[in-house]
Amino acid sequence: MSPRSPSPAAAPVARLGDLAALRAQVRAWRASGEGVALVPTMGALHAGHLALVRQAQASCRRVVASIFVNPTQFGPSEDFSRYPRDTERDIALLAQAGADAAYLPDVAAMYPPGFSTTVTVAGLDAELCGPIRPGHFAGVATVVTKLLLQCLPDRAMFGEKDYQQLQVIRRAVRDLDVPVVIEGVPTVREEDGLALSSRNVFLAEAERRAAPAMHAVLREVAEAVRGGAGTAPALAAGRARLAAAGFGPVQYLTVSDAETLAPLDRVAGPARVLAAAYLGRTRLIDNVAV
Ligand code: AMP
Repeated sequence: MSPRSPSPAAAPVARLGDLAALRAQVRAWRASGEGVALVPTMGALHAGHLALVRQAQASCRRVVASIFVNPTQFGPSEDFSRYPRDTERDIALLAQAGADAAYLPDVAAMYPPGFSTTVTVAGLDAELCGPIRPGHFAGVATVVTKLLLQCLPDRAMFGEKDYQQLQVIRRAVRDLDVPVVIEGVPTVREEDGLALSSRNVFLAEAERRAAPAMHAVLREVAEAVRGGAGTAPALAAGRARLAAAGFGPVQYLTVSDAETLAPLDRVAGPARVLAAAYLGRTRLIDNVAV
């Protein structure tokens, strides 16, 4: 499901290069009585991001997408410097999707000298990706809080693809009384089940062929535990299947409470199956509802 090539006929997207431009634009929309939705992204846009834009358009007259590769959510050995960046292509895709504006802040403006405030969501950041990526969710929660306060949208859209991130943001917004409605958007997938991700471009051909096994395993585990059976046997079988498909290391494959993300031995309420594993050098994450 790759997005179509950008068409030159698409309506122009306002480029908002700094906070003053963002606030002036949002003020103008508000003066006309128009609702505003924010879609935070790190660029390298694909059909998953564009689904967020479409969901935003369904509830708000105006949609602004932010494009900001946030350095504070990458660990020292992670892929910040090689993260794919192509702002012109991104803006063309946003235009095609009908977004009204792109907010493109730079790192120096987001993190001026002396920046020293961090939003941490204790507990949620101890699960799943938290211990594996120390500081990651604090980086995410801080930059998203900042983007929300900069834009002050009515609603903001986040993908279920990054399920733990969605829960962290929901909790931060609730705890801090940030006046915005957070909406989750279902994961957009390739036809073979692979969740769209900006990092999929790093997969070699054989890895790309192996990658859909992650979604297949998640669905199998969800199916196996749905009726309340113990989760351990399904998870062991799932880990073995991931390894056989070429994934390694498998960082986690769990069945977790859908809100707290605490691991479950048995499903008795809303739950999610989540996985993180490497295929070659590329780390893939995915999740499904039970
Ligand atoms: P990113 O640019 O990777 O930080 O993602 C920006 C937003 O798009 C986040 O809310 C992601 O969860 C969401 N997103 C990324 N991939 C997908 C996908 N395949 N389906 C739905 N949402 C997605």
